Amino acid sequence: MKIDILTLFPESFSYLNSSILKRAKENGILDINVIDIRTFSKDKHKKCDDYPFGGGAGMLMSVQPIYDAVQSVRKQNSHIVFASPSGKTLNVEKAQELSEKQHIIFICGHYEGVDQRVLDLLHPEEISIGDYVLTGGELPTMVIIDCLSRFIDGVITKESLDEESFSSGNLEYPQYTRPQVFEGMSVPEVLVSGNHQEIAKWRKQKSEEKTRAVRPDLIK
Ligand code: SAM
Repeated sequence: MKIDILTLFPESFSYLNSSILKRAKENGILDINVIDIRTFSKDKHKKCDDYPFGGGAGMLMSVQPIYDAVQSVRKQNSHIVFASPSGKTLNVEKAQELSEKQHIIFICGHYEGVDQRVLDLLHPEEISIGDYVLTGGELPTMVIIDCLSRFIDGVITKESLDEESFSSGNLEYPQYTRPQVFEGMSVPEVLVSGNHQEIAKWRKQKSEEKTRAVRPDLIK
């Protein structure tokens, strides 16, 4: 998958150069390109924001640099995403759907957001990462990219995905690793029994108990 990220703050994206996403890039599974919107500004001082017409707090990102930045990378199969508190909230189904796209262009808003004509001209899909407001679209964009990447073949193992919270509708069961005893607390006997049927039964039961206790809204 090819991903183009349009931002005024390219330095924010160093997270994508670590751990699992770094490996996916090195293995050619993800091709991520971070583009500085400022380089597209036609303003002689490379300004990319201005006061909102009608007044109000803060600055708005101007339409021209964003529009031209999108046009520079847009292809026939491009899907445009704008991280926005006004969008539908990201979930597993949406992440899976996005993971099937060939090319995604992410627009990162900042300050008070973007001129409405960015949305009216480019018709991006608006996606929120929750009912709260962050200072910019950089973190939400990384959240969306991280989440969708996990559904792309070869990024993580299929087994990890199947067992993960939300994949079966429930939260994941508790997990343990070495040492077997720490501060007097032992790993549940069943997990060291070698009996895979019993382990699976225990995990299902714990997963259901945990979901009922902390996220009863997930239980259909
Ligand atoms: N004035 C906007 C509003 O009230 O909806 C908020 C602007 S916010 C300070 C700046 C940018 O951060 C937004 O344009 C968006 O790109 C991003 N952003 C902030 N919160 C977000 C969220 N919950 N989900 C996705 N993007 C968000």
